[in-house]
Amino acid sequence: MLSKTMRYYGQRSLSTDVSAYARILEGFRGSIGNTPLIRLPKLSQETGCNILVKAEYLNPGGSIKDRAALFLIKDALDKNLIKSGATIVEGTAGNTGIGLAHICNALGFKCVIFMPDNQSKEKIDILRVLGAEVTTVPVVPITDPNNYNHHAKRYAEQHENSVWTNQFDNRANRDGHYSTTGPEVWTQTNGKVNAFVMSTGTGGTLAGTCMYLKEKNSKIRTVLADPPGSVLYHYIKSGKLERTDGSSITEGIGQGRLTQNLKDAPIDESLFIKDQDSVNMVFKLLCEEGFFIGASSGLNVAAAVEISKSMPKGSTIVTTICDNGQKYFNRLFNKNELSKRGLLDQLPEQYHKNIF
Ligand code: PMP
Repeated sequence: MLSKTMRYYGQRSLSTDVSAYARILEGFRGSIGNTPLIRLPKLSQETGCNILVKAEYLNPGGSIKDRAALFLIKDALDKNLIKSGATIVEGTAGNTGIGLAHICNALGFKCVIFMPDNQSKEKIDILRVLGAEVTTVPVVPITDPNNYNHHAKRYAEQHENSVWTNQFDNRANRDGHYSTTGPEVWTQTNGKVNAFVMSTGTGGTLAGTCMYLKEKNSKIRTVLADPPGSVLYHYIKSGKLERTDGSSITEGIGQGRLTQNLKDAPIDESLFIKDQDSVNMVFKLLCEEGFFIGASSGLNVAAAVEISKSMPKGSTIVTTICDNGQKYFNRLFNKNELSKRGLLDQLPEQYHKNIF
């Protein structure tokens, strides 16, 4: 007998439903945002809640950070900070840089990126192929003048016609999510969203989306999900910037301070998610739901499942798939790396065929 899922996949209407993309989009800029909101059938059935994911990996540069990149450049243009032939400079874990590099190519700008040297090689390769000038620097805290963000700021100060977009503290980042991601989630759920949960790097996505959703309905539960080694879990709980133990396999999330983008955001609570739970969820989504995602998205979905345990049955919980797994072959899908981080032994046996 065919299962419900099999019958669903067999439906013929699939190729004729083009309503979401019924118009022609204008260039790279025009194809940022308006991502689908996808219900995960298996996890929804298991939790008794609607687990919905915003498919941010479908942005044209491949991640949620295309939105921030667009709004940061738009902000610089609006403020007349950019002249033709400008150089855009940013400190980034990679994805914002990739978004910026694409937009720079579309606008004829040069792109200069400073990255911490513990990020995936694939992101650096992509940036170089896009034509960005990439410098990796040792990982040091923001209080150290050699932190990657200070390098970016200094570069812009020392070079003519250069702009540091400052994704962490420039609120154009969260404003972009307030004016796009938030309204999209609200509209796509017909206002029936009960909780929004996700991890943060700059805080732009979580803050901007939650600001919009809380304005629409203050009862929507807003949750920050945090990996090991970040201060935000404790900050939201107690107001103290106290780091949780360890470091994380996730990239682009976790934070050592309160960024301007996260400051005063209407976040109700925080959840700590262990790497093992994030990684196991990456493989569950891959093998059981059909989605090939990165580690921050595994964490996000693990957090959505966690909060479903304290929500009434039938609640709608929204999170994001920030990017896909293709940038993380050498880490997340690599046996030695998982083993080195103590994440292999508790990865369910059925997923060991998916790593090499
Ligand atoms: N996931 C991934 C893969 C990212 O690259 C980032 C941003 N660095 C985030 C999540 C977090 O997004 P935000 O900066 O808006 O908090």
